Amino acid sequence: MTPPLPTVAAPLRDPLAPPLLDAQGRRMTYLRLSITDRCNFRCTYCSPASWGGKKDLLTPDEFARIVSVFAAMGIQRVRLTGGEPLIRPDILEIAQRIASTPGVRRVAITTNASHLERLAAPLREAGVSQLNISLDTLSAETFRRISKQGDFAATLRGIDAAAKAGYDSLKLNVVVMRGINDDEAPALARYAHERGITPRFIELMPFGQGTPVPTAELIAQMQAAGLSLAPEPADEDASSLTSGPARYWRAPTGRVGFISPLTQNFCGGCNRVRVASNGDLRSCLGGRAQAPLHQLIRGGASDTDLALAIRGALGEKPEGHRFTEAGNGSTLLPMMGIGG
Ligand code: SAM
Ligand code: SF4
Repeated sequence: MTPPLPTVAAPLRDPLAPPLLDAQGRRMTYLRLSITDRCNFRCTYCSPASWGGKKDLLTPDEFARIVSVFAAMGIQRVRLTGGEPLIRPDILEIAQRIASTPGVRRVAITTNASHLERLAAPLREAGVSQLNISLDTLSAETFRRISKQGDFAATLRGIDAAAKAGYDSLKLNVVVMRGINDDEAPALARYAHERGITPRFIELMPFGQGTPVPTAELIAQMQAAGLSLAPEPADEDASSLTSGPARYWRAPTGRVGFISPLTQNFCGGCNRVRVASNGDLRSCLGGRAQAPLHQLIRGGASDTDLALAIRGALGEKPEGHRFTEAGNGSTLLPMMGIGG
């Protein structure tokens, strides 16, 4: 009689090894890390009415740990956001630790620019190569109306400091609101181009007050105001280091980007995963909290435990957000905690 064949266990994949795939088979290469839910501004489209800063934020060690696990799994780009990331007193340490993590090729920050006059050069030295700067208006009065408590002059000085600090890439994020700043798009594009910055106009998402302007309408409005705009071909490689949700057009003075979460769903090429300021991994901006990475770390989880929790959450990443579904806006987490 033939002896039974020995059973060979299927080789187990190392959960810490790349690639990091979501439920749709999309490869995740980009981590957005909200390092605080606090902010020195109260933008009308972002601040929840009942905003209260969370005290139990992650430490630089904990961020470095989370990023090292993600980087081992295939994350190459990290963006620090918030709240306002530059109000953390330890921002330079956080940036430097993340920029020196093996596997991390680019570190970017999204900021309201209020602290950039002091921090633009040190952040560049710490290894940050890209800044996305938020500025919705060139009018001091409209700025006050939108940000409630922002310092307009300091913001403009911060943008000028960033323009001189030698960053590889600078972008200006403009959230467009009907009747508030939608007539300023050509002037904001010019302002950005004069400083070597690429402007990007964003459709307002339903996290706070204001009425969105569809991108197609905004482009027509800009063209009617005399700005010549021609579309550039889309970047088809969703996993490239430069790809993102923006679609670019060419104006005489430079590129102009449009981000259209409402009218041109960009979820198909999603390569991003988010960690909210409470340390919860969120697989989608429009989804629910999923893996409590901070709690796991404080409970003594190993890197493999963290990797398994990350893979488990990404296994439930939805195909796309559902901002345009009726009533969904009211059930989303505030933008400040997730970081955009
Ligand atoms: N405080 C930083 C800043 O303002 O740049 C980083 C955090 S902020 C939440 C990140 C980005 O999200 C900003 O560019 C902001 O304009 C954008 N944002 C906030 N609320 C938004 C909304 N309701 N719709 C579209 N973009 C929004
Ligand atoms: Fe603060 Fe940025 Fe939100 Fe404005 S958009 S309230 S600056 S986090």
